[in-house]
Amino acid sequence: MQRVLLHICCGICASSVVLRLREEGFEPTGFFYNPNIHPQEEYFKRIEVARQAASLLGFDLILGIYDKDNWLEKTVQFKKEPEGGERCALCFKIRLERANIKAQELGIDYFTTTLSVSSHKNSKLINEIACALNPAAFLKRDFKKHNGFKLAMGFSRRYNLYRQNYCGCIYSRNSKI
Ligand code: SF4
Repeated sequence: MQRVLLHICCGICASSVVLRLREEGFEPTGFFYNPNIHPQEEYFKRIEVARQAASLLGFDLILGIYDKDNWLEKTVQFKKEPEGGERCALCFKIRLERANIKAQELGIDYFTTTLSVSSHKNSKLINEIACALNPAAFLKRDFKKHNGFKLAMGFSRRYNLYRQNYCGCIYSRNSKI
């Protein structure tokens, strides 16, 4: 099997993606790198779900650093943007850049991301951003296809996993309050 570094935005989304990648002949190593998540308690809850998914599905999980101040500094210019706008494009780029670097550090030839599972996220944009970083290494996919989101929700219900009700950052959280 070929190895792929899988950037994981949350454990639930990772579930259907890991199964899809294995069907394709890849063995994923999970990489949880999400400095966008606010507040810190929420960050730790999402790490816990990622750990549960890794244990249930039997994949390795690496935690990235929680450099939230750096994320806030870079994205504050877009704090008034609606969800799906320029702030999100930059947020995707920050996370994908780190995943690309981590894959190279680990000597893993490919990287991809669970971000495209969500029905709220623009897969075309995610793929364009990642391909601009490293077209030879990025596995361009739309993981919401073939019922990816529905399968992930089924996994969360079966194992009673915590499901967040906002995307992750302080701006998305405030818009739900
Ligand atoms: S809404 Fe989601 S994708 Fe957009 S900036 Fe916030 S955390 Fe990132």
